Amino acid sequence: MCSRIILGGTALEKKTIAGLSIFEWQEKHRLLNKLVNMDEMFWLNPDYGTELDDTIVLADQVKSAEDRLERFADYIVEAFPETGPMHGIIESPLVEVPSMQENMEKSYKVVIPGKILLKCDSHLPISGSIKARGGIYEVLKRAEEIAMKHGGLKQTDDYGILASEAYKELFSNYSIAVGSTGNLGMSIGIISAKLGFRVTVHMSGDAKQWKKDKLTSLGVIVKEYDDDYSKAVEEGRLEASLDPHCHFIDDEDSIDLFLGYATAAGRLKNQLEDRSILVDADHPLFVYLPCGVGGGPGGITYGLKLAFGEHVHCFFAEPTHSPCMTLGLMTGLHDKVSVQEFGIDNKTEADGLAVGRPSGLVSRLMTSILSGSYTIEDQRLFELLRMMAEAEGHYLEPSALAGAYGPIHLLSHQTGREYLENHKLLEKMNKATHIIWATGGSMVPKDMMEQYLAKS
Ligand SMILES: *Cc1c(COP(=O)(O)O)cnc(C)c1O
Repeated sequence: MCSRIILGGTALEKKTIAGLSIFEWQEKHRLLNKLVNMDEMFWLNPDYGTELDDTIVLADQVKSAEDRLERFADYIVEAFPETGPMHGIIESPLVEVPSMQENMEKSYKVVIPGKILLKCDSHLPISGSIKARGGIYEVLKRAEEIAMKHGGLKQTDDYGILASEAYKELFSNYSIAVGSTGNLGMSIGIISAKLGFRVTVHMSGDAKQWKKDKLTSLGVIVKEYDDDYSKAVEEGRLEASLDPHCHFIDDEDSIDLFLGYATAAGRLKNQLEDRSILVDADHPLFVYLPCGVGGGPGGITYGLKLAFGEHVHCFFAEPTHSPCMTLGLMTGLHDKVSVQEFGIDNKTEADGLAVGRPSGLVSRLMTSILSGSYTIEDQRLFELLRMMAEAEGHYLEPSALAGAYGPIHLLSHQTGREYLENHKLLEKMNKATHIIWATGGSMVPKDMMEQYLAKS
């Protein structure tokens, strides 16, 4: 009954993963066929809504992350004057996209009731992507620890003093390292170099040249690997472990990154309130988040669940060639499985999402709070990229468009309708808000953007 796998041939058929052959896995999970064949699919999480036992502990931690970012606001203004109008709080606009909504309805022949908003992390200050949340937060936390322990900093000080030569010199005794497909390296590289840390970014083979060039120009050491993201992380982790003064930012397993991302939710709540947009039992909120290793979308989902509980419905978006989080959740193997083991090649133009193995920390935390996920073909990312540029004048990178396919999937696929029926949402959709989380793009060079536009 199960369809044959295209890739790999007999070697793949005989192989077992966690004790089962690929065919046995496919029999257990109906949608695994589509994942393995790299077809688009929409998956509902069967464990959604079960108890989340560690909410309380993490809720406190999210609060303390919010407080820490506020303490650093004076430093951020000092170091990055462009954040002045926002008083040193690194936050992105939430905008309406009515023409995009109309275009999506026409092109995909689907009615999208309710209102679509775009969350423009593409325009976050400092590094122009969602990574300006988690990445910068973790470096700031590290800087605060060092400054308190060795530089006499107190919580009540004006953190603007951290921009002084004395603190830069202190930080220059320490280093930061990270493995990245590009954007995390950018945000960590930029903030670390600004503070005065020595910083090394281990880049995967798919990282774009302009990102490496930009970092090198800032004095960041860039090490390149002819391999994927997991390898870059592994090498970075190994090298950092040899240096006691080096802090490794572990994108696969960092609670601090996760917390930095989670702080987005409280701020989004304020933005919605400012627009008088309700989120409650009669006004559901749907949020569509592009997912790579999981920290960004996972942290935000966690924060949103703390803020809105059952009234928010979060879906992850992954490329058909890199569906690592969907695979980890569907099989329950979390980080104990990679897409490559299932013959999926992890080759995508959506470089921020080119990850073959999910974060185990995030995958486990998502088990009960993620509504579902879906995959999208690269070609469609480019179509949506062009549509967004032409309809709204927002220029985003391919990864950032993965979320735009969410409302279409949800409202036009049988599985999506099933979700709405199960949660008694069908009759409330006129009052729904859909947020497409646009995760990056403002720093993409013009010629690169033109290449993207030409691809649709
Ligand atoms: C990193 C990234 C994501 C996904 O974040 P993860 O934490 O890797 O899941 C999405 N979009 C862009 C543009 C990114 O750089």
